[in-house]
Amino acid sequence: MNNTSVSVQSKTEITKKIKIAVAKGDGIGPEIMDATLRILNAAGANIDPEFIDIGEKVYETGNTSGISDEAWDAIRKNKIILKSPITTPQGKGYKSLNVTLRKSLGLFANVRPVSALYPYVHTNFPDMDVVIIRENEEDLYAGIEHQQTQDVVQCLKLITRPGCERIVRYAFEYARAYNRKKVTCMVKDNIMKLTDGLFHQVFKEIGQEYKDIEQDAQIIDIGSARLAARPEEYDVIVTSNLYGDIISDIAAEIGGSVGMAGSCNIGKNMAMFEAIHGSAPDIANKQVANPSGLLNAAILMLSHIGQNKIADKIKNAWLATLEQGIHTEDIYKEEVSKSKVTTSQFADEVIARLDAKPRHLKISNLVDGKGTIKIPEYVRKTARKTLVGVDVFLDWAETNPNKLGKALEKINSYKMKLKMITNRGVKVYPDGLEETFCTDHWRCRFVSTDMDTKNNKFIYQEVQFEQIIDLLSKLHANGLDVIKTENLYEFDEKRGFSLGQGE
Ligand code: NAD
Repeated sequence: MNNTSVSVQSKTEITKKIKIAVAKGDGIGPEIMDATLRILNAAGANIDPEFIDIGEKVYETGNTSGISDEAWDAIRKNKIILKSPITTPQGKGYKSLNVTLRKSLGLFANVRPVSALYPYVHTNFPDMDVVIIRENEEDLYAGIEHQQTQDVVQCLKLITRPGCERIVRYAFEYARAYNRKKVTCMVKDNIMKLTDGLFHQVFKEIGQEYKDIEQDAQIIDIGSARLAARPEEYDVIVTSNLYGDIISDIAAEIGGSVGMAGSCNIGKNMAMFEAIHGSAPDIANKQVANPSGLLNAAILMLSHIGQNKIADKIKNAWLATLEQGIHTEDIYKEEVSKSKVTTSQFADEVIARLDAKPRHLKISNLVDGKGTIKIPEYVRKTARKTLVGVDVFLDWAETNPNKLGKALEKINSYKMKLKMITNRGVKVYPDGLEETFCTDHWRCRFVSTDMDTKNNKFIYQEVQFEQIIDLLSKLHANGLDVIKTENLYEFDEKRGFSLGQGE
């Protein structure tokens, strides 16, 4: 099997200078990047930055994606990006550069560690130490949306097996590499049985290969509630894009680290490292910004490129600086702080402690990690795919499902007949309830079924694509407005579509 290395974290420190693309960004970006690079340099990080322009300056030239061709070239050549936040211009037509970077570069995993720095940074959860691993490319963020009727808009939730396998394996490998004990999967597969069901299924399958790691799956609603109430019970959490987006912000907020946390976006052979906060234009050019978020991102980057020893050295110096009450304005508090410092002074203080270790906070020890994270190439298994029917979506402005049902009963194609009609997923024909509210968006399921007398249940019969075309022509000829169709398949005799609620 062809393995793809997504991290070069190793026990052997790499001495060669690693080229990285560095974007100073907008707002406070240049100030926090200068502070961060000074610390990296003083600690002896073996990096060779190539500065690139992205963000406001580029948007202002009329480039709606905020990134020039030269910057793309530098990123693709160097494969590692350390990025300050950028300001996304308001108004239509501008694309989010972060989304563009993540998707174009295939950065499938977003990793956000959040650990409490109590009492130096306020949190109600002093023992919190969680890493959220969020799938970064799929789910509702595929951005495929359509208005289908006057009343109804739709967003496609795409979950793929390769996407699930990559992210779930990455989470388990991450747990092993960073000496974590437990991985919790968060899904909503009690409702979304196919999409979230696949994520959960893959978690169970891949989990078999990681029996040394404790495993748990939780429904996202109760999972997020517990994370907010008892974050110390979690270690590594793996989840899909939207849930991950939400819970990683919950985690950062309750950990007190919105201004302090770094994150990374990991791809097959590219990775991007950044703070989780934005460009903070309200405090730009004032030397009051806290560079810790970007510094933590840079620490993740050093670990990723195999410079764990230097990553530990910087992290421990940073923890020691915080412990000694040297704080920027955003975290300065009379009770725990000793001196209020500027962005640049904070960097000086960290540099002055590069040989120090924290006395109370947990010492960083990445050097003892267990090596390279490898994600195997996806191998698609072949399944027998059988067409068994079609869901036809109609725009129909009337409200009586029985009237529509009766009309559709008369329209058949070969053996394919109407099985049911749903409105917003709820079965309204046959035998619907008067109370169910109906919009102008009707899903009409046509299948060819037979009775399995032995097991006393319906079985689907194979249909031909031509029959579907014939059916659609007949519907159209009867004045019905077909807005979309969804073919119904079985894969290896297993139903590849959900049942209507009440079907
Ligand atoms: P923000 O994170 O920039 O600021 C929110 C608040 O936190 C502000 O009061 C700010 O002063 C403070 N803050 C943020 N970082 C800080 C730091 N390092 N030190 C001290 N205080 C800090 O969020 P926002 O105001 O919603 O967004 C500002 C701009 O940043 C927007 O254009 C937004 O699109 C962009 N943004 C970019 C990224 C990114 O590039 N990754 C992420 C989020 C927001």
